Amino acid sequence: MRGKFVAGNWKMNTDLASGLALAKSLVGGIAADGAISAGLASGKLRTAVCPPFPYISAIAEAIKGSKVELGAQNCYMEKPGAFTGEVAAAMLKDIGCGLVILGHSERRHKMGETDSQIKAKLLVAQGAGLEVILCLGETLTERQAEKTFAVLAGQIVGALGGLPVEALDKLVIAYEPVWAIGTGVNATPGQAQEAHAFIRSELAKHFGKAAADKMIIQYGGSLTAENANEILSQPDVDGGLVGGASLDAKKFLPILQAAVA
Ligand code: PEP
Repeated sequence: MRGKFVAGNWKMNTDLASGLALAKSLVGGIAADGAISAGLASGKLRTAVCPPFPYISAIAEAIKGSKVELGAQNCYMEKPGAFTGEVAAAMLKDIGCGLVILGHSERRHKMGETDSQIKAKLLVAQGAGLEVILCLGETLTERQAEKTFAVLAGQIVGALGGLPVEALDKLVIAYEPVWAIGTGVNATPGQAQEAHAFIRSELAKHFGKAAADKMIIQYGGSLTAENANEILSQPDVDGGLVGGASLDAKKFLPILQAAVA
């Protein structure tokens, strides 16, 4: 039985003071909520925050002792060395991150990240002991051209092709339709379920059904307190990767409540 995993992607938001306040209100809100606390204690629920690089260490202190996990939003594809301005996966592990988001659509489409770069990052990140949240998703044009499944299949092969099944042990997939990210237009529960089921079937094709059945596949794209119940109750939706609504504990906590409902 898969649990649920809801992670907050803070993107390039907050300053130090507001990031600390957010982390503290999240930890306090979780402690005050019996259902969320029980879900986290039993392992049926996982949650994480992914702050901007400069604040990760401070946020690590703020969430210490809680069940909130810590992640980063990117890392470089090489081991530590002469790569000015980049951040190594090993450094993230060193400062307490257990997770790293890779292949976010903002990196694919705004920074031009390619599948092969994402795969290289994934290998380095897992090699450093990090669990990877690998983002996949189609653009609006691709969906309108009925290319959604082809795009998802290509991104899966691009990032995971040829890897051993063990690569799935430290991996979470986030299905994030690009047209739904930060737009206020979420995928319908049916669209999310259809894409998640497809991703799971592709994983089964490459890695076998047993491994695919265990995979956590998060939904991301304008997930809110209002739509979380319906989306998170779809059989192949195992949680969420949350942008905007993760910047306010009052908006993030109801998504955790929906995940344990
Ligand atoms: C995201 O950035 O991963 C995301 C899903 O953003 P939002 O929730 O704001 O759509």
